[in-house]
Amino acid sequence: MTTVPPPAVGIDLGTTFSVVARLDERGQPVTLVNAEGDRVTPSVVLFDGEDVVVGKEALKAIASEAEHVAECSKRDVGHRVFHKVFDGRQFPPEVIEAWILNKLRNDAAQQIGPFGQVVITVPAYFDEVRRKATQDAGYMAGFEVLDIINEPTAAAVAFGFQQGFLDPQGSSTEPNRILVYDLGGGTFDVTVMEIRGTEFTALATDGDVRLGGYDWDQRLVDLVAESFIREHYVDPREDPSTAGKLWRECEDAKRTLSARGKASVACDYRGFSCRAEVSRQQFEEATQDLLDRTRFTTVQALKAAGLAWGDVDRVLLVGGSTRMPMVRNMLRELSGKEPDTSVAADEAVAHGAALRAGLVLARRQDQPATFTIHNVNSHSLGVVGTDPHTGRKRNGILIPRNTPLPVTAKRTFKTRKANQKSILVQIVEGESPSADDCTQIGKCTVRDLPPNLPVQSPVDVLFHYEPNGRLKVHVTVPETDRQVKTEIVRENSLCKEHMDGWRRYICHLEPTDYR
Ligand code: ADP
Ligand code: MG
Repeated sequence: MTTVPPPAVGIDLGTTFSVVARLDERGQPVTLVNAEGDRVTPSVVLFDGEDVVVGKEALKAIASEAEHVAECSKRDVGHRVFHKVFDGRQFPPEVIEAWILNKLRNDAAQQIGPFGQVVITVPAYFDEVRRKATQDAGYMAGFEVLDIINEPTAAAVAFGFQQGFLDPQGSSTEPNRILVYDLGGGTFDVTVMEIRGTEFTALATDGDVRLGGYDWDQRLVDLVAESFIREHYVDPREDPSTAGKLWRECEDAKRTLSARGKASVACDYRGFSCRAEVSRQQFEEATQDLLDRTRFTTVQALKAAGLAWGDVDRVLLVGGSTRMPMVRNMLRELSGKEPDTSVAADEAVAHGAALRAGLVLARRQDQPATFTIHNVNSHSLGVVGTDPHTGRKRNGILIPRNTPLPVTAKRTFKTRKANQKSILVQIVEGESPSADDCTQIGKCTVRDLPPNLPVQSPVDVLFHYEPNGRLKVHVTVPETDRQVKTEIVRENSLCKEHMDGWRRYICHLEPTDYR
């Protein structure tokens, strides 16, 4: 009996919209529609008593019962809990994401049958904690997460596929350098990639996990609210459901402004009403600083890749917010090139994820790889040390950002006191020289040091960082036989029992079951 291979499925778990794609029989990525018949699903969750509703209906509910709606949960990933409380309950953001994934899985299963394996994408600029939380969301939604890959890389893979690069006959050995500018609903990511034949290499990445279309919406909300206040002396933003409705209207008006020179937004509150007309120019002026932030980050990424605009073959636009004319105009002026819109802005990331899933599944069956991905780390990784002169906590960086992965790095620190009994190694992620401004992502302790260890004894810390984001840490105290090897335990992440509990609750699966 021949067994049917599992489908290769990729999920773009977006801040505002999510997309699922699979590879068809010919290996072509195709987007799957959800139960409502749409290709994109709002990443919005409504807590309706005991019921949890995800997607379009949850998005609609923002206008009437905003206090029960969780939107943009991806922005809070990495924090212990989502910022809003629902009926006295607070959820970890990755649990909210698990509900979204669960809906995506159930809807997709209607078309392709039950499946359990998936590749999920994350912004390239996501740090370790956020990557791990995303992986956990997949687990709690009943998946085996084959891989977590970067959204711009996925978009570049989809682009490469479309250009015929993944076809061994069609692939060129000439390097193609592309800058992927991904402005979505809640995050901004810019990555410089080199495509050489079937090899995809990230050269540098930068971004902002709290900048996206949502911020453009809020500026429109403010414009309308201010004109409402001028007329009626009350602020419609003070009521959550009115603010929610206004936000939806403004998001719609923003889309109109991508196609037309003006749009109008109606707002009703406490028996007053107002219709504000906004021109594209007014909108662009009100959001210029947001655009400038992306411009600045883009220039930084290019510099980090060691390239000039003349070295870049294409500027690839990804993410729904790149439909705004101001984005295209800025990039055209900055790069001297016409931005490339050949990939579907909302679907390319999911398509790349499906291609990646196909690759991982093929490898499991000992089939040759059709393409390879080389990554860089998006944040510096280091260890907390103490400055002997000032006593301040410093970030002793072992792996600077944008280092090609995998990488092994070693650095020697010194013990602080004579006769030290144990050494605490705190692992941090971030660019600041001050450890307090970095994120602690884990720690390990070397215990039972032999007595009479002199002050300033060397302690070697070795990091091995894999492209899949796993960090192995090896600490040795050369003058003793003490050492610790550990894969770091991340702070703020849910423990296994809690995750298993959520997995049972959300999708009724036991820890070892996969669909
Ligand atoms: P994410 O992956 O972060 O969820 P997407 O790439 O799906 O985001 O993009 C969603 C964002 O794109 C939303 O903020 C949405 O308002 C915006 N968007 C979609 N279409 C348009 C358009 N025509 N003009 C301006 N913004 C748009
Ligand atoms: Mg996206």
